[in-house]
Amino acid sequence: MLPLTFYNSLTRATEPFAPIDPTDVRVYSCGPTVYNYAHLGNLRAYVFTDTLARVLRWRGYPLTHVINITDVGHLQSDADAGEDKMEARAKATGQDIWAIAAHYTAAFKQNLRDLNVVEPTHFPLATDHVAAMIAFGEAIEAKHCYRLDSGLYFDVSTVPEYGRLARSRDDEGEGRIDPVAGKRHPQDFAIWRASPPGENRQMEWDSPWGRGAPGWHLECSVMSRQYLGAPFDIHTGGIDHREIHHPNEIAQNQAFGGCADTGAKLWMHNNFLVDRTGKMAKSSGQFLTLQAVIDRGYHPLAYRLMCLQAHYRSEMEFSWEGLAAALTRLKRLASGVEKVARATTGKKRNDPNPIVQNARDAFDRAVSNDLNTAVVVTEFEKLIKYFGQGTLPADDCYDALLDMDEVLGLGIASLNMRSLRVRPPGVILSDEDVERKLDARREARAGKDYARSDAIRDELAAAGVEVMDGDPLGWDWRPLEAEA
Ligand code: AMP
Ligand code: ZN
Repeated sequence: MLPLTFYNSLTRATEPFAPIDPTDVRVYSCGPTVYNYAHLGNLRAYVFTDTLARVLRWRGYPLTHVINITDVGHLQSDADAGEDKMEARAKATGQDIWAIAAHYTAAFKQNLRDLNVVEPTHFPLATDHVAAMIAFGEAIEAKHCYRLDSGLYFDVSTVPEYGRLARSRDDEGEGRIDPVAGKRHPQDFAIWRASPPGENRQMEWDSPWGRGAPGWHLECSVMSRQYLGAPFDIHTGGIDHREIHHPNEIAQNQAFGGCADTGAKLWMHNNFLVDRTGKMAKSSGQFLTLQAVIDRGYHPLAYRLMCLQAHYRSEMEFSWEGLAAALTRLKRLASGVEKVARATTGKKRNDPNPIVQNARDAFDRAVSNDLNTAVVVTEFEKLIKYFGQGTLPADDCYDALLDMDEVLGLGIASLNMRSLRVRPPGVILSDEDVERKLDARREARAGKDYARSDAIRDELAAAGVEVMDGDPLGWDWRPLEAEA
């Protein structure tokens, strides 16, 4: 096998992956802020981390993977401006903040299951770690922090090479951040935010710096150390985190563990999902959820495949047409896999099949090349094609497909046309009704009664059923037309 290589945002180079401890590779992924549903862009970040985790496991590395849940501390800007997103949501909706956090955390976990994301080893909540965050603040306070009325702040000039990870930490970028009165440098950030006098917050704790809440960046330094130790192997997040959140985490780690302690050795960032209006953002309130995709009749794995078709470091544009194309590709793939599975005999072969060996090599090359999943999908499809052409025995083909699926995560052992059918809400036809009508249509066609056959086709279309004549896919519920 080729050495795995990954692009490291810290060194800006693609590097061979050398685990700190090959018996326990440790990965931390910044999790969602649970004041609203995750949008498709957020979920792209977790399809990426899941692919990374799957590749590491596929290469035989035991893995400890953490995805944290941010239920406190993330302000409306990534820096120190605005209100806490959770508090603002609670105020706007009149709901209990803990109920909001619980609801959106559960919804996020359901999204991950729908996308076949393997559950991480730990899903720690920030609010369960406030005492540890306070202890961390106390440990770095004397040498690296200063106090203001509004809380405890980190002085970024106290660590070497502050902001090395970021690309655009220029004055213009900083100019967009509301200044906090008394900050020594614009990039200094809150370790602890004291509750403003007279303000009632639903989430606040006592600390040596007054009653208040932890700064957002603190949770990831604390929880990564607690669950993974330091240094650990890989830290992931969306590309926005490369600019503020992760440089600040690194600064905290250096303050706590010494200059050389950046926390993770390798920092990996997925690029944005954008649509015609720009980057998909939760704060805009206008965003697409996975549930909206399902409600329109698209199987959620079509979105997973859409993500896999793009390289994680490239911007990816969402469109309904693109999703429809991914769904069609997924259906073809499922129908191909189904045929291969049906033809298997269960016999084991001794000699490796040369076609399979070639495909495995190409697959391995693609995976090793900074997760080139687009090529990985193509290699997978090629195997199905070779089976269809009669050049590859079903058993060899199926074995290799199952193996590659460990990386793709499409769940091919249970993937078939039936499992991909998403029934639009409100339809009253059952699958059996559809089958009966299709039988009647076949009979009409056999008797050359085309008027009747067309009438049945129209009836099915009116009920949201797409009949795919001459196509191995047979029939499916039609996704609802998306608005332009
Ligand atoms: P948040 O819930 O805002 O804390 O973000 C959760 C994850 O989604 C983070 O890793 C973000 O960097 C990432 N993210 C946010 N917006 C997008 C987007 N439009 N495309 C891809 N990733 C994103
Ligand atoms: Zn984080």
